[in-house]
Amino acid sequence: MREGKWLPFLDAAMRALLRKKSSVYASYGVFLPHSFSMKRLTCKQIGGVCNTVLEAETPGEMTKVASEHILEQAKRDPAHKESAKEMEAIYNDEERHEQWKKDFQETWDNAPTI
Ligand SMILES: [Zn+2]
Repeated sequence: MREGKWLPFLDAAMRALLRKKSSVYASYGVFLPHSFSMKRLTCKQIGGVCNTVLEAETPGEMTKVASEHILEQAKRDPAHKESAKEMEAIYNDEERHEQWKKDFQETWDNAPTI
């Protein structure tokens, strides 16, 4: 078989393995062109204001990446500053925070893996 034919198969098999035992096989990640469970969301989709694309592997990581983006932009952009305030308000309100987490999980689940 020519190299070009079996390589994509091997890649697919490796990805299937990784999905099953991600912690055990995580070290194989270095051989893959990019992560198997990476997702993309825009700042807006997370509750921000711009179309900057953010990438992460888990909802927790996405929350972190988005917070960092919003806080960084808030230094010079009033709209992001408002988002940052809103985020803080939600975070400090248990009921709103629970709702936000539910909405965010749904957004995350609906986002295609890249
Ligand atoms: Zn933004």
